[in-house]
Amino acid sequence: MPAEPMVNSCMFCDIVAGLRPSTRVYETETVLAFRDIQPAAPTHILIVPKKHIARIVDIAEDDVCLMGELLLAAKVVAEQERVGDGFRLVFNNGATAGQSVFHIHMHLLANRRMGWPPG
Ligand code: 5GP
Ligand code: ZN
Repeated sequence: MPAEPMVNSCMFCDIVAGLRPSTRVYETETVLAFRDIQPAAPTHILIVPKKHIARIVDIAEDDVCLMGELLLAAKVVAEQERVGDGFRLVFNNGATAGQSVFHIHMHLLANRRMGWPPG
């Protein structure tokens, strides 16, 4: 269960709790990685803290270590998926930037050419 109480239900807390199906690819005590249901690249994995944090702007000082663990998980998942060193990590913060699920998640995208700047 999420470490922080939620006002409303959260899709990714449900995935973490196993109440909603997902294709898990990596997990630690604090972090879960699973395949995006609507992939935007041949490899598209979401890496989330098990603790509910809605947006990047909601991160507290206590979460600094946890956020580092997300990056470490990204490295392990990239190795596991054999994507080499060509991958992109993205956080969308807020609806204007494209955030649609309000539980922090890092997108790991790979196996296609990435444009810059991102759209
Ligand atoms: P955002 O737009 O918030 O940055 O990214 C949300 C991502 O979550 C999207 O890429 C979307 O395809 C993915 N997503 C939404 N609902 C589900 C779901 O139920 N399962 C999985 N695996 N991914 C989901
Ligand atoms: Zn949540």
